[in-house]
Amino acid sequence: RFNGIQVAPPIEVFAVMKAFNESTHEKKVNLSVGAYRTDEAKPWVLPVVRKVESDLAADMSLTHEYLPILGLDSFSTAAAKMLLGADHKAISDGKVTSLQVLSGTGGLRIAAEFLHRVLKYDTCYISKPTWGNHRMIFAQAGFTTVSEYRYWDASTRGLNFDGMIEDLQNAPENAVVILHACAHNPTGVDPTEDQWKKIAEVIEEKKLFPLFDTAYQGFASGDLDKDAWSVRYFADKGFEMIATQSFSKNFGLYNERVGNLVFVVNEPSNIVPMRSQLTLLVRGSYSNPPAHGARVVSAVLNNDALFEEWRGCIKTMSGRIIEMRKALRERLEKLGTPGTWDHITNQIGMFSFTGLTAEQSKYLGEKYHIFLLSSGRINMCGLTTGNIDYVAEAVDDAVRN
Ligand code: PLP
Repeated sequence: RFNGIQVAPPIEVFAVMKAFNESTHEKKVNLSVGAYRTDEAKPWVLPVVRKVESDLAADMSLTHEYLPILGLDSFSTAAAKMLLGADHKAISDGKVTSLQVLSGTGGLRIAAEFLHRVLKYDTCYISKPTWGNHRMIFAQAGFTTVSEYRYWDASTRGLNFDGMIEDLQNAPENAVVILHACAHNPTGVDPTEDQWKKIAEVIEEKKLFPLFDTAYQGFASGDLDKDAWSVRYFADKGFEMIATQSFSKNFGLYNERVGNLVFVVNEPSNIVPMRSQLTLLVRGSYSNPPAHGARVVSAVLNNDALFEEWRGCIKTMSGRIIEMRKALRERLEKLGTPGTWDHITNQIGMFSFTGLTAEQSKYLGEKYHIFLLSSGRINMCGLTTGNIDYVAEAVDDAVRN
């Protein structure tokens, strides 16, 4: 039965990670991983998370009983408030419902299943380029057409706004448009507020369906409100929409799979049937979500002192990234590396689309053991005060060769 199965293509980010792990070069640098690293190039468990975890471990009233199918309510409600703003009118009007899901990826998958099976949507639009998993998630959930809207302009190393608008204008009615709420992955380029307004106009006019993938709230700028501006603008405008929230990056809870799937509806009475359909979708895939990470996030979001402490942690992470952007740009400009490097500091979030070609990226891996994706995307957290000179000089060499 198992004869003749084709080997599936490798997932690049994991392949690059493997190459890094196998390298014995003393100066090796991993710029591919999608996770935060300290200035010592180490993973970071947020101190506030450690604190809550030890409280949870000591709490003898907690058990390992199943959570409800749609997850922990105290988590889900607080998460939706964090996204939309606690006082958002849609919340007080009973137009928001949300459920705990398996992080950002799981939220996107349940959203896609819901859109396809329940609402019968079959076309979605993803940005070109986008996070590698978007296409697969929507295709595997049954979407028959996964199209791209233009996004990155290689010549300006910025947003191809006219191309994006034109492609959305040509999208068919009810196409789902996947938007990155902030810190676009992989480009680090976000629309301006005025550009978001125009995007909203086209989505409304063309009767498209907005879905916000929110994987970096707070992690991008250090400011939870600023990073949620786009989502809140659409909610203010009265759009019916979906947003997924990931707590992987902003809480550093990558392997705990903590996410929230938020629906904003116009008619509150639709929420009961919607939740009943979502219950079946979840039941038939993983039955119910894990508790640990959601308990941690719930404890933090529902306690003022812990919340403040957490805001300090996201400032530390986003601040270090912003520092590394400045440091890399400064060094490349000082070296006179051919090309312009202002895009490094103009971009936001964990990733920078450097503009390095696939060949240059390969050269960096082979000659310097600096590992990055062939698209030229680098994780800014892979840079540290200890390796920044090495990386800048290597990039300089790669660009000149
Ligand atoms: N969406 C985007 C744009 C991402 O960059 C990521 C993670 O890299 C995710 C979603 C989902 O991550 P997770 O499933 O760990 O929450």
